[in-house]
Amino acid sequence: MKVLTLNAGSSSLKYQLIDLADGTVLIRGLCERVGGPDAVHKFDRGLGELKRAEPMRDHHDALQLVLAVLTEAERGPIRDLADIDAIGHRIVSGGEFFSESTLIDDDVLDKIAVCSELAPLHNPPALHVIRACRELMPGIPEVAVFDTAFFQTLPPRAYVYPLPYEYYTDYQIRKYGAHGTSHRYVARHAAKMIGADVYDLRLITCHLGNGASIAAVDHGVAVDTTMGLTPLDGLMMGTRCGTIDPAVVTHIQTRLGYTPEQMNEIMNKRSGLLGVSGVSSDLRAVEEAALAGNERAVLALELYAYFIKRYIGQYFAVLGGADAIVFTAGVGENSEYMREKCLAGLEPLGIVLDARRNRLRTGERIISEDRSRVKIMVIPTNEELMIARDVEKIVDELRLAEVLAAGADDEVEQTLV
Ligand code: ADP
Repeated sequence: MKVLTLNAGSSSLKYQLIDLADGTVLIRGLCERVGGPDAVHKFDRGLGELKRAEPMRDHHDALQLVLAVLTEAERGPIRDLADIDAIGHRIVSGGEFFSESTLIDDDVLDKIAVCSELAPLHNPPALHVIRACRELMPGIPEVAVFDTAFFQTLPPRAYVYPLPYEYYTDYQIRKYGAHGTSHRYVARHAAKMIGADVYDLRLITCHLGNGASIAAVDHGVAVDTTMGLTPLDGLMMGTRCGTIDPAVVTHIQTRLGYTPEQMNEIMNKRSGLLGVSGVSSDLRAVEEAALAGNERAVLALELYAYFIKRYIGQYFAVLGGADAIVFTAGVGENSEYMREKCLAGLEPLGIVLDARRNRLRTGERIISEDRSRVKIMVIPTNEELMIARDVEKIVDELRLAEVLAAGADDEVEQTLV
């Protein structure tokens, strides 16, 4: 089955065409700065990246360019759009409506629209892209895969904020989490690597990219995660502050006369690694500055690692121990320094990193010592593959239901005849 995955951001559209027969990515690409004067379409058909500056007024235009490249004569990976069996859309917020991936119909579209309030930068462009798909590729089944779905299993004690309860009942203000598709993928993959069933394991999964979150996965079920109503909560990130005393917000606003929008911008775009180091939001650049003796860069790394360590400790307690800690995404997969720093001193909990294995660079790997009670693992995340697999499962079920229904119709006809 060939599945097109689409991931719409506020001014971007990322995509992959995956052949699930063997998991090959036939093409991957990204339209950037959609709607701007310098929009660009980058894509890779397996022969290196190509870049085309092309005007795109909106996500509809972007999708049209993508489909043109997919079916380009001679070089496109498919001849005809009908060669696409199904489409999977990454949807940032499914609110409390969706606890799993879902075939898109009008009712699902309405619910995604309602959730736009919770993901104002992402759900509206995703809706735009879904509608464009319906117009440009009618009849091809579309599936919504929600970032929040994996965390719909959280118990109320983990997702209710201790505010007046009406804010939850009247305005749905609660913890939703994010990065669910990535946490779900690495949790399953970790189980496969260990040779156990995910339903037999307690896992702490650490997705450390520009955005970063940790999840506690108890016997296959997510029971807590660090991101909250929005992706600002939890860990310190590239430009986001993560958890701080909530009173700091009103304190700064009052003291400096900032509006809520200004405060939002400070916490989301000017904090985290960038805010503390003053150097960059990119961990590599901060590591380099720290090596060169920049004290604020050193402090930023200390803080970053400390946040991770604290949450690992919390989730160790929540789960009553752990069978494995999994690292993924840009920092988690690549920074041996950060992995070592956030795990330092956890040996009494049975978490023992192997310094040599930690320096190995590529692929999925176990980097704990053999005597470590808790396995420490690095697993490259693959949200697109997870999306495509969800799509395949749902579309297979749909086809089976259609075949059964057709069979039933035949039977009725035969009876009537
Ligand atoms: P996004 O959340 O945008 O998908 P990524 O998962 O690509 O982000 O992660 C980006 C982060 O990963 C950046 O902070 C970058 O510095 C970090 N990173 C990537 N490679 C390395 C490396 N070799 N060493 C340290 N950090 C790295």
